[in-house]
Amino acid sequence: MEQLKKSRAFYCLECGKCTAVCPISTFNKGYSPRRMLAEGIFYGGRDLLSDRLLWSCLTCQLCSQRCPVDVKYSEYMRDVRAEAYKEGRWGNPSHGGALLHIMEMAASPGLKQNRTGWITEDLRIKQKGEFLYFVGCLPYFQDFFAKDFTFEPVSIARDAVRVLNRIGIEPVVLENERCCGHDLYWLGQLEKFDELGRLNMKDIEESGAKTVITACPECALSLKKLYPERLGKAGYEVLHISEIFARSIDKLKFKELNMEVTFQDPCRLGRYLGVYDQPRQVLSSIPGVKLHEMRRNRRGSICCGTTNWMNCDASSGQIQRSRLKEAKETGAKTLVTACPKCQIHFRCAACGEQEEKSDLLVSDFVNIVASALEG
Ligand code: SF4
Ligand code: SF4
Ligand code: SF4
Repeated sequence: MEQLKKSRAFYCLECGKCTAVCPISTFNKGYSPRRMLAEGIFYGGRDLLSDRLLWSCLTCQLCSQRCPVDVKYSEYMRDVRAEAYKEGRWGNPSHGGALLHIMEMAASPGLKQNRTGWITEDLRIKQKGEFLYFVGCLPYFQDFFAKDFTFEPVSIARDAVRVLNRIGIEPVVLENERCCGHDLYWLGQLEKFDELGRLNMKDIEESGAKTVITACPECALSLKKLYPERLGKAGYEVLHISEIFARSIDKLKFKELNMEVTFQDPCRLGRYLGVYDQPRQVLSSIPGVKLHEMRRNRRGSICCGTTNWMNCDASSGQIQRSRLKEAKETGAKTLVTACPKCQIHFRCAACGEQEEKSDLLVSDFVNIVASALEG
């Protein structure tokens, strides 16, 4: 009942606009957000708790953009999942659940990690200071995905610091930074999320940082909105790295890059945080970079097909391949995303069976900006 009230589910008009636009419903006709709401409203939601499709929603918020009565469907999913989790029910975690278990372990207060092993000698960082770079899961992704998907997740972290140094910022990097907990939040593990939030907020406060910068939209959403909502206001501002690059654009001197690119709006950066213009502004300021827009862009952008390392299935692959096709149809040769996880999922889809392969390059926004730096 509480979930129905908080998410405004009772206002649902059963118009079906959510189902019509949902990327999961497009490829899996058994999934319908309208039906999932009706199950809760008319039948008490008991069957939902054991429905494996409960874990398929990407919480991408595309349906909420179309809903005429502002039903907060992603929040409804989070709360029903929290109920299911309490009963010991879960979805089908990708990669054997290893990445989710790392997040859970990160909530142990006594945990000691090596979170700075990726830092090379040319990068300038500090122990305490005004700016803090929140790295996110990149060092873990390096171990999981670098070999199979032939890319270097930690290169995003190195390039982030490289560009920040060029702007004149020597950021703090926490020696024992924890996972932000984003995925656990959307999977309904709210106690673990709160524990991670408390540990991270304490370490950030102690660093003296007044501005936290991250290149991961999920970390940005957790630190900027979800922690304050659940744990109280913080004494620092949180920015996605595209925002600080855009603010400091006059300090960045670029050489010419001959590139035709299109930009993937990550759900968390776009629909959740409203950051659409800054990455486009920075990319367009690099000489020789031509930005093409996909048909579905900005508020109408389509998710990369998998979230929270959960229920990655045939429809996830179909969403990813349809998005790669849409990107290619723009004439771009490179799909640029500002989310490391989008890149992982797109690379995974692009290296499938022969007929599914895509020759579109997939790259991170930060790597492109760093490659354009003069000198
Ligand atoms: S949040 Fe996204 S995946 Fe979930 S029902 Fe809405 S449109 Fe579909
Ligand atoms: S779009 Fe909104 S009102 Fe229409 S069925 Fe979906 S949740 Fe209900
Ligand atoms: S798309 Fe690939 S990398 Fe992403 S969750 Fe699915 S299997 Fe893993």
